[in-house]
Amino acid sequence: MSRTPLIAGNWKMNGRRAMAADWVAAVANAIPIGVEALVCPPFPYMDVIRGGTGGSRLGLGGQNLAEEADGAYTGGVSGEMLVDLGCTHVIVGHSERRLSGEDDQQVARKCSRARDAGLMPILCVGETLAQREAGETFNVVSRQIRSVLDGESEALLDGLILAYEPVWAIGTGHTASPEQAQEVHAALRELVAGYDAGLAESLRVLYGGSVKADNAASLLAQPDIDGGLIGGASLDADSFLAICQAAAS
Ligand code: PEP
Repeated sequence: MSRTPLIAGNWKMNGRRAMAADWVAAVANAIPIGVEALVCPPFPYMDVIRGGTGGSRLGLGGQNLAEEADGAYTGGVSGEMLVDLGCTHVIVGHSERRLSGEDDQQVARKCSRARDAGLMPILCVGETLAQREAGETFNVVSRQIRSVLDGESEALLDGLILAYEPVWAIGTGHTASPEQAQEVHAALRELVAGYDAGLAESLRVLYGGSVKADNAASLLAQPDIDGGLIGGASLDADSFLAICQAAAS
């Protein structure tokens, strides 16, 4: 089955209004055919990006959402607010949030909240270096996925996007080799097939962890790598577009 590749930029807590305006002006109408692209900017810059996307194929996503719907949750941003801002996707369970205390149960609640609000969650999973060296990679990523999917309806699985992001590769410049990434991606697809074989075939599994313009093509050439979640390299319009180009070709 052919799956349209997805390139999602995660700006994390970076950027300013002027940078966001310049970035969207350069990127919005330059997305190559054959790839889906979206950007997840910090909440305060969503409107700037949205203002520049009119009529383009660039999508918008959140980096996080609250576990709750609207209400008395100071500092929270609900899934409904993200939809109101024009988002279609939201990153859930990024390792930077897990490292600051978010557990599997919270990640699971956020995934189902995202679906209830009408967003597609990009569920991030990945092992630390110590876990990889201890041979625990598959156990860790399986636990992270099972805690979201067990007991959930098919509606959650339909449209879910996974991102395999080895913690040791994020922002470090040490990317997983295409073979290392492919091995985990294939295992994730097999795991999901245990829930629904048809949906596993159409499931998109993104790779994230120091993807750059010069290593994207070899990662994206792997049969089970269906796109990328791009941190640092997404801040630069040219390198983001070069990664999109690698995915499209
Ligand atoms: C990320 O933030 O999800 C990420 C993969 O970062 P980087 O590309 O900078 O490693």
